[in-house]
Amino acid sequence: MTASAAVRVPAGPFGPPCELVNVDGRIVGSDAARVSVHAHVLSYGTGTFEGIRAWWNADHGQLYLSAAPAHYERLHRSAQILGLSLPFAVDELVAMTVDLLRANDVRTDAYVRPLLVQTGDVLPVRMHDVAARLSIAITPIVGDYADPAGLRVMVSTWRRQADTAIPARAKVVGSYVGPSLAKTEAARAGYDDALLLTADGYVAEATTSNVFVRIGDTWHTPPGTDDILEGITRAEVMALLDETRIPLQQRRIHRSELYTADEILLCGTASTVVPVVSVDGRAVGDGQPGKTTAELRDALRAIARREDPRHPEWTTPVYEEAGQ
Ligand code: PMP
Repeated sequence: MTASAAVRVPAGPFGPPCELVNVDGRIVGSDAARVSVHAHVLSYGTGTFEGIRAWWNADHGQLYLSAAPAHYERLHRSAQILGLSLPFAVDELVAMTVDLLRANDVRTDAYVRPLLVQTGDVLPVRMHDVAARLSIAITPIVGDYADPAGLRVMVSTWRRQADTAIPARAKVVGSYVGPSLAKTEAARAGYDDALLLTADGYVAEATTSNVFVRIGDTWHTPPGTDDILEGITRAEVMALLDETRIPLQQRRIHRSELYTADEILLCGTASTVVPVVSVDGRAVGDGQPGKTTAELRDALRAIARREDPRHPEWTTPVYEEAGQ
């Protein structure tokens, strides 16, 4: 067997991961943060995680962490649901993340991955009495995660897992097998992404984002009880719609409503907001990205970089502000 050259080619929009990581509150090199092949999580997916974005603003010379408290509150809820111990408060986790971004001197957009997983020995299957470990790692973002020109999506043959099988509102490591299968099914069929239905056939969400559907003047999004991950971006989109007095209903959505919708958007931390231009080959509206979708995308990105004065409470500056 020939040894492969140690060349790191960035995969998609991501650069090579940052060298320094935080493990159980201490900053160490990535090499010191390896897990054993015996780790429980590797066999069973027993753990939970978050995905947080940081946005670089070159004019401000500042990096802004986006919605970090909301993400760490969800990590706490996920840990509580799984029965995992998370020995750091939300404000401590935010401070640890700021310190880690500084330690790596990150001055570009970045993706932050907090991970609370069972690293204790593999046997037997259970959630209790297994050692767990919290890590935080950073990956620079060098491109666009999803095409802002609009996504062509299909309704997957795979269903979103029911909350009765794997807690849906917890961001569980092992629960990403389903979305991975759905994404690959979609890619092989020539689509950009997939929408998953609940076990009883209502629209739940896309592989790694929530969905909003405009029918006439009113937007609709599935309720938290339809087996979705209750997205942080979803909550921000709901707040912006409310503030601009655009009507929104949380209600169950039929698959056939997707085929006659006037506008559809997907939203999530990685992509922010992206338009859906077709579902199962049927054009959404006139087949072009919708106006409200474009406005929401621009607004969320401008708020994230503090180019828009609204909601400074959604962002945390990473570096010392001048004059402080
Ligand atoms: N659903 C799933 C399954 C996801 O993985 C994500 C991404 N975290 C979302 C929805 C969107 O959530 P958020 O806006 O918090 O990133």
